[in-house]
Amino acid sequence: MSRFWSPIVHTLTPYVPGEQPKLQKLVKLNTNENPYGPSPAVLAAMHEANNDALRLYPDPNADQLKDAIAVYHGLRREHVFVGNGSDEVLAHAFCALLKHDKPLLFPDISYSFYPVYCGLYQIDYRTVPLNDAFEIDVADYEGDAGAIIFPNPNAPTGRLLPLADIERLLQRQPDVVVVIDEAYIDFGGDSAIALIERYPNLLVVQTLSKSRSLAGLRVGFALGHPQLIEALERVKNSFNSYPLDRLAIVGASASFGDEAYFRATCDKVIASRERLSTALASLGFDVLPSAANFVFARHPQHDAGQLAAGLREHGVIVRHFKAARIDQHLRISIGTDAECDALLAALHTVL
Ligand code: PMP
Repeated sequence: MSRFWSPIVHTLTPYVPGEQPKLQKLVKLNTNENPYGPSPAVLAAMHEANNDALRLYPDPNADQLKDAIAVYHGLRREHVFVGNGSDEVLAHAFCALLKHDKPLLFPDISYSFYPVYCGLYQIDYRTVPLNDAFEIDVADYEGDAGAIIFPNPNAPTGRLLPLADIERLLQRQPDVVVVIDEAYIDFGGDSAIALIERYPNLLVVQTLSKSRSLAGLRVGFALGHPQLIEALERVKNSFNSYPLDRLAIVGASASFGDEAYFRATCDKVIASRERLSTALASLGFDVLPSAANFVFARHPQHDAGQLAAGLREHGVIVRHFKAARIDQHLRISIGTDAECDALLAALHTVL
């Protein structure tokens, strides 16, 4: 890498994307996409967009989308921040924590981008171990902290923290921003959005990539007290005034208008998750209870890396992490029942 850039750039660990299969026959269960595709209302709204949708700059505030999100969640536009995927929303939140005098806390097994953002923005952080059952214990986050962030359900474990625990943490840490990354909350958890009006230090981040099946559109958002949101707007405007394009604004807004489709597809994913968890357990896997659109499992008699490689040979891609403590686990995204069956059939051969 060129020596002309800052030494910090040399320390960054770039994201290595999961395999992008070219062949239709591969079963892709490695990046937690939704198998059902977005609501037809999303596609119709984008299709109806006219020439101006691409000729003109988009609304830099994306007010149409902010209003759709605010109304859906019973809040006001001032509570909403939108970005190009929740990754970008999170990046702006990390940037807003620059030069904090106390460390940012997050779990030692968690979303792998958190340490990457800390490296980029030179944010001091401390990781907090999960307990033996791979759960977050909020009591561990009550000490000295500049800010706190964790996914709920956690990734890649899928374990859910009850809302009462999050509320207890907000009460014990009233002077600290608590960011709850709810990328997977729609698959079985209670959102902390219900707490926003009472806790000005709470920021909830969600995405349309998972439960709304719009990973390709790149839309995420944060909800919180207007003063927290205002700071994110300042950061955003210093980077890019137009984070969302016109088609994304129109399509994402339409997604919030089709509740029936949203519910039905989430319910299908949840039913398939329970079915797959039972089937994996009967093959001898230890499967963590999951509230997400993936399961996290290990087989006591088989090496996880070899299992992933064996599945790949049978056309099924799952995620294997090499990090300590989870290097014997596989994270398997929930596909259609037919895709889950293809995985199970491949496992019968590989095990
Ligand atoms: N948070 C967590 C916990 C995730 O797993 C992901 C997806 N990899 C994201 C945030 C980012 O999702 P997106 O940028 O697609 O909104």
